Amino acid sequence: MRGTTDGLVIRETAVGESDKLITVLTRDKGKILISAKGVRSQKSKNTALCRPFVFANFEYYEKGGRYWLSSGSINDSFFGLNADVESLALASYILDITNEISGENSPDDTLLRTVLNTLFAIEKKIRPLEQIKGSFEFFAAAHSGFSPDLCQCEKCGQAKAEAFYLDVMNGSLICSACLSSKKLPLTEEITEYDRFATKNILIPISLDVIKAILYVTSAEPKRIFSFALSKDEAINEFSHVGEIYLQNHLERGFESLEFYKMVTKPVTDKKQN
Ligand SMILES: [Zn+2]
Repeated sequence: MRGTTDGLVIRETAVGESDKLITVLTRDKGKILISAKGVRSQKSKNTALCRPFVFANFEYYEKGGRYWLSSGSINDSFFGLNADVESLALASYILDITNEISGENSPDDTLLRTVLNTLFAIEKKIRPLEQIKGSFEFFAAAHSGFSPDLCQCEKCGQAKAEAFYLDVMNGSLICSACLSSKKLPLTEEITEYDRFATKNILIPISLDVIKAILYVTSAEPKRIFSFALSKDEAINEFSHVGEIYLQNHLERGFESLEFYKMVTKPVTDKKQN
């Protein structure tokens, strides 16, 4: 059986001498695997179709319970992501998150659109990279069912406090008055395990960042970048809290995130080592 589908290549795996298996997030089928014969050879007309970040219309046929690529036409390859290593590294991390939170054969148009918007935002640098990263991380967490509830302290219900801390695993806030005096002052995040071995992570969090998270997790997906954080520290904090939140809820880390963090270190840091 033959068919066509619009989709974004989110992963490629080399197979044999000249073939590839590509993972494509499609509009109508969710995530699917497509076998692409001969595409690692220079002669193949489909070589350009089978690279990560390519959004294309794929023509395929089904045989033996698998999809096989016959041809296709590219809509966008996000070529501008190659302009600098930071952008490419962040975009690779976005694809890895997407691969993790998408389901095979379960269509998810919201996810596909948001990933395309995010790649566009990185390519065109419509916002600082750290802000785009944090926004996508909180979108991904909320889209996977881990939306935080940050309107008030989880213990006393107060919406105003001297300081707030993010209770990562509960996706809630705790105010300084309710945090036990043993833990105060809390200036860095702490991770501890209770007697039932339940993980508990607390991070100091600023009001600017609370507002940013509330905005992203309640905005329409196409508007998740449409806010401004006034200070660089707030942007960095937002990004930092985003990765801790997402990784702990997905219960995994990402090599591509570690690579992104390595290449985005200020140059002066590297010289000192
Ligand atoms: Zn409280």
